[in-house]
Amino acid sequence: MRLYEGDLYWSQTVAKPLRFDKLAAASHTRVLIAGGGVTGNLCAYVLSSAGMDVMVAERGRLGRGSSLANTGLLQYSSDKMLSEFMDDLGVEPALRFYQMCLEAMDHLTAIDQILPGPTDYRLRDSIYYASTPDYIGPLQREYHCLDQHHFPVEWLSREQLRNQYRLDKPAALRTWHDADVNPYRFIQALACKNQQQGVRYFECTELDLGHIQANQVFTRDGWPITFEHLILTTGYSRFYAPARERIIAYRTYAFCSEPLSQDLWKDEAMIWETGRPYLYLRTTADRRIIAGGLDEDPAAAEPGSGNIPAKAEAIASQVKGLFPHLDIKIAHAWSGLFCGTTDGLPIIGPDPKQPNIFYLLGYEGNGMCYSMAGALILKDYIEGKFNPYQTIVRVDR
Ligand SMILES: Cc1cc2nc3c(=O)[nH]c(=O)nc-3n(C[C@H](O)[C@H](O)[C@H](O)COP(=O)(O)OP(=O)(O)OC[C@H]3O[C@@H](n4cnc5c(N)ncnc54)[C@H](O)[C@@H]3O)c2cc1C
Repeated sequence: MRLYEGDLYWSQTVAKPLRFDKLAAASHTRVLIAGGGVTGNLCAYVLSSAGMDVMVAERGRLGRGSSLANTGLLQYSSDKMLSEFMDDLGVEPALRFYQMCLEAMDHLTAIDQILPGPTDYRLRDSIYYASTPDYIGPLQREYHCLDQHHFPVEWLSREQLRNQYRLDKPAALRTWHDADVNPYRFIQALACKNQQQGVRYFECTELDLGHIQANQVFTRDGWPITFEHLILTTGYSRFYAPARERIIAYRTYAFCSEPLSQDLWKDEAMIWETGRPYLYLRTTADRRIIAGGLDEDPAAAEPGSGNIPAKAEAIASQVKGLFPHLDIKIAHAWSGLFCGTTDGLPIIGPDPKQPNIFYLLGYEGNGMCYSMAGALILKDYIEGKFNPYQTIVRVDR
């Protein structure tokens, strides 16, 4: 299945992407990372910052997998509410998982500050509104769970939402410690920093992941790479046997507008909703709106990119329903494969049979936040330290 189709926006925002050679010799590294998306680059940053010898092998070009289709919303709240995780996992593991995400957000913000080059990373509030009055009860419960455990959250009544955000919805939560970013620029800046820290990058270097040996894997061109640890950050490109049963695939749609001249909304907060599939939107530094939603079963989606314009128009009309004063003109529209999991948790940790091979699969809507948390968990595994979050997201949970 193709990772995405259509006319993507972020690719237009980097004039000269970094370029790296193909691997053309046998090599050795302490840590080999398969995949040069946002996950592989975050992981390379964390491990090289800890002084490890790291190599990244990317089968295409850096950041041009799902990371390029990513709309760049970074939030500590998951698609599944804390209160729902409490019902499914128990109170303590659920709190630990949300704490992991909140800490990951703060790590992302700190990393952004030391990166060379623009990333368009902006701290933002998030507004999570009740799609209909039926959601007020669950949203109130979520507010109490978050507030009682000191997560950054505020309740907004219908009146407050209308007066402050021009949103005519029954109620909402405001959360903070969140951010938006240009994922492609973020990856370019991270790779630049990682290079300075000694990370070796190879592009157009596909690893034969169907035949991984104890400490060696071959490139498709036949070059062996020996490693102590292999980290698989291949996103939705490959469904690995220990995780396959858990994965749910969707096709999702998004668009980016032309820059808008009208007033937008308070603080240009990121906006999303309780209904499913949910509408979400954000702005960019040059006053565009990026919005997405309309997730559907990939089997139900028409093959090819023929239905993207109609889906983008449908999302734009949902946005206009929220903000009728905006004159939205679609500039770019795309669709992408998107994967969630049956329990709403990412898949992070060692292979149950081969403990020097690690999965770092940030499935679910908070992919980048999970990738950040996962990079820190894997660093601890490699250093032989216990990480308080490792058990919740482990592969064989
Ligand atoms: C439309 C859309 C919107 C999204 N919005 C958000 C959002 O707002 N916030 C958020 O957090 N997440 C979002 N996501 C999810 C997000 O895109 C992913 O979580 C994230 O980009 C995954 O990054 P990754 O590095 O894991 O995967 P990728 O970016 O896909 O990188 C994996 C890389 O591995 C490489 N690879 C694969 N196989 C091999 C091999 N054998 N050898 C070498 N290299 C290989 C691929 O070429 C690819 O470059 C969105 C996804 C979509 C589709």
